[in-house]
Amino acid sequence: MSKLQFTAPKGVKDVLPEEQPFWHLIEEKILNIVKAYGYKRLILPIFEDTGLYARGVGQGTDIVEKEMYTFEDKGGNSITLRPEFTAGVMRAYLQHGMASLPKPVKVWSFGPVFRYERPQAGRFRQHTQFNVEALGEQDPALDFEVMSIAYQLYDELGFKNLSFQINSIGCPECRPAYLEKLKEYYNEHTDEICDDCKKRLKTNPLRVLDCKKAQCQNVIENAPPISKHLCGECKEHFSTLKFYLDGAGYKYQINHRLVRGLDYYTKTVFEVWAQGIGAQNAVCGGGRYDGLSQAIGGPPVPGVGFASGIERIVLTLQAQQDIEIKEQKPLVYFAVQSEAAKPFVVQIVSKLRRNHVPCIVAFGSRSLKAQMREANKRGVKFTVVTGEEELNKQKVHVKYMEEQKEVELSFEEIVDFFVNKNNDD
Ligand SMILES: [Zn+2]
Ligand SMILES: [Zn+2]
Repeated sequence: MSKLQFTAPKGVKDVLPEEQPFWHLIEEKILNIVKAYGYKRLILPIFEDTGLYARGVGQGTDIVEKEMYTFEDKGGNSITLRPEFTAGVMRAYLQHGMASLPKPVKVWSFGPVFRYERPQAGRFRQHTQFNVEALGEQDPALDFEVMSIAYQLYDELGFKNLSFQINSIGCPECRPAYLEKLKEYYNEHTDEICDDCKKRLKTNPLRVLDCKKAQCQNVIENAPPISKHLCGECKEHFSTLKFYLDGAGYKYQINHRLVRGLDYYTKTVFEVWAQGIGAQNAVCGGGRYDGLSQAIGGPPVPGVGFASGIERIVLTLQAQQDIEIKEQKPLVYFAVQSEAAKPFVVQIVSKLRRNHVPCIVAFGSRSLKAQMREANKRGVKFTVVTGEEELNKQKVHVKYMEEQKEVELSFEEIVDFFVNKNNDD
């Protein structure tokens, strides 16, 4: 075969029909869960003004510095494909005066995000996120609620060994003093740390704590933990959250490496870990961002949320052999033995579909044998063959594919018969 002229760009993925049962299952769980928690859907544009992300995701982050798909549109505006949802959600909250709604305002979104990253398992340059945000309230019970949504989703999907990693990264009251302590400590270890960390110390010091380089691990391990330097309010918030997690019986570990390197992130940061494609790993991340609204020019609006990549969930589901994915198969296949029978068969199939009976009609003009092979491949429960004889008698034979059994039906009985069979399922 000659080489294809076009294939999908590097780092993007076609989600083929055979993968849909996984997606369908995830979407179904999401819809059920957000309903129980009272979250409403918010559909956001796929692109925004670049400035929203530059300020709302933040200069100095990998996303803004290296990963955004930014371009100038025909009107000369700088546009960026959304690399995440939170900034857009806050923008919409401010733009539509949602502050006047009963608080908290609770929304969820689902759709693609775009990041120019090195492609790896479950990470794509276009990937799909389920995103949850609750705005307008500082209560740690809301942090707990948002975390519970994430937990419940993975739990209902059958993920194993679920637990939270949690941390508090303080607030503008207590963080600056901690950052000074952190920098002091790191200044005593400059010869041990990587070049990126040396840069981070200047631009985004909290991020030294989530450096993945081997040489930095020992330094991170012995760094002063922020939990010991929280102000009274942050301490209280964190201990109340832990109290709720304990009450619900959720497993969690306090992880002082879990940080977000931006000023507007406040207090709670969390990840959900699960037994994944290999070792334990994070399936979602989130936290509180009480300073975000001001960072994009709004009044103070507290908020908390999380995002979860759907492709990673699918990979985890596929790695779990025991999950039963029910593929929706058509109920009945209508084979056509003679051209004269085709109009009748087309009409019957059309009637059945209006009654929501999933059925297929043979297209083209293949041999009956080829048609039966197709019926087998498609895994239908019944086949009906219509030819001259059936037209003359106004009767068909319904063949049960799994049992050696047939029944005879008059033309008038066909629709009722399959509507009933379909309801039995
Ligand atoms: Zn604080
Ligand atoms: Zn480092």
